[in-house]
Amino acid sequence: MKCKICKAEAVVALRSHNAAFCPECYKDFFARQVQRGIESRKLFTRNERILVALSGGKDSLALMLELSRQGYDVTGLHIDLGIPGSSAAARAGVERFCAKHGLALMVREMSAEGLPIPQVKARLHRPVCSACGKIKRHYFNKVALDEGFDALATGHNLDDETARLFSNTLRWDTAYLSDQGPRLDSEQGFVRKVKPLWRLSEFETANYAFLMGIDVHTAPCPYSPGASFTALKGLLQRLEAAMPGRKLDFYQGFLARGRPVFARREAEEGVCLAPCTACGYPTSSGDLCGVCRIREALRDTASA
Ligand code: SF4
Ligand SMILES: [Zn+2]
Ligand SMILES: [Zn+2]
Repeated sequence: MKCKICKAEAVVALRSHNAAFCPECYKDFFARQVQRGIESRKLFTRNERILVALSGGKDSLALMLELSRQGYDVTGLHIDLGIPGSSAAARAGVERFCAKHGLALMVREMSAEGLPIPQVKARLHRPVCSACGKIKRHYFNKVALDEGFDALATGHNLDDETARLFSNTLRWDTAYLSDQGPRLDSEQGFVRKVKPLWRLSEFETANYAFLMGIDVHTAPCPYSPGASFTALKGLLQRLEAAMPGRKLDFYQGFLARGRPVFARREAEEGVCLAPCTACGYPTSSGDLCGVCRIREALRDTASA
């Protein structure tokens, strides 16, 4: 198999693009896809400061490295969740990665914020992942706003996005369908959120991470209920195998023709947000936001 560009020995074959690439041409292909993803949806410019959420997984590290190679002004943010058996390794991996590539990194520890995830788990009477996700999103947004960043970038790839879109569609969750996409504009209390890897599949991102020598943190979270969206991703994978390119078409078709319809409908209904009385984060609950309620519940447990 020969590289489509330079005819050297190819190492990656992509059916969806009907092409194979050698390592160097593959890196160029990846860079072009990221650039197209950024420019076609006007995610951000080189004059803006971008905060990149770094979990330690291949997607977020690949995103950080590629954006810095393309000359964007990026700073990493790692949230240390304090989960035994996984958080220390994830944090060490992110710190090593940023030191190796000379990239700026900020770390926030949830135990210092009164929100260590093991205690949240002990207090909750339901699976911890939705609370954990809420806490992470809250701090990504808070740090981005407090530190004056223009946008928060996450490493969601095409497989994440299409599985989420499929899941939202199966439930006809119009609120989520109204604002899913590679760019969510800033509004009162929320920083702009962007997903520059939206055109690239998990396989394509994994190949890039491998070819760039990115050392990926793999210790799974002990609280993980199993990879989320596994069944949906499997279905979409089979669809893609039978009809290469279909995943990207599905997602782009939604962005062009589906999302605007749902967005109009949500705008008509209008959700009323007010600042949380403790931290100022926008909330529809009328008093404390979800994260401050969790923190308060932990405090009550500790003092009981
Ligand atoms: S698996 Fe659940 S608890 Fe663990 S880091 Fe992910 S969201 Fe948090
Ligand atoms: Zn080549
Ligand atoms: Zn709050």
